[in-house]
Amino acid sequence: MNKPNKAIFLDRDGVINKERSTYVKTVSELEIFSGVASAVKKLKDAGFLVIIVTNQSAVNRGLTNHDNVNDIHFNIQEYFRKNDTFIDGFYYCPHRPDENCSCRKPKPGLLLKAAEELKIDLQSSWMIGDSDSDIQAAKLAGCKSIKINAETSLTSAIQTILSSIGS
Ligand SMILES: [Mg+2]
Ligand SMILES: [Zn+2]
Repeated sequence: MNKPNKAIFLDRDGVINKERSTYVKTVSELEIFSGVASAVKKLKDAGFLVIIVTNQSAVNRGLTNHDNVNDIHFNIQEYFRKNDTFIDGFYYCPHRPDENCSCRKPKPGLLLKAAEELKIDLQSSWMIGDSDSDIQAAKLAGCKSIKINAETSLTSAIQTILSSIGS
């Protein structure tokens, strides 16, 4: 009880913005996909919180830092604000795989932390990501998931979610 919110967790790189093999380390390397703002707006209109959950091991690999990650997230938020919507929360894991933290996806830590802080009912929530680790994290957290790729876009994933809730 007392978990009144439902949420859509979105992976960042490959979902909101273009993925880079050498990581998105600064704002200048950020390329936001077109169409993501209207997608987020639809989800929020349907009553979901929209939360970004992202692995950013480039931080603890020493390739970028927390300030840069926060700048990138500020920039993403500004983009959504300019398009009449917003992201309800940004959660990221700065750890390298060898640190064995509890937040790097496929571990569910980021989702569980957001659920705790924002009072989210995970069973009525979804994760949308482009990696198997996103889907695994969703399963471990107890929420539904959709994997997107070139064929299944964010827009069509959102259509699936909205039709499943009869919206
Ligand atoms: Mg990704
Ligand atoms: Zn972590």
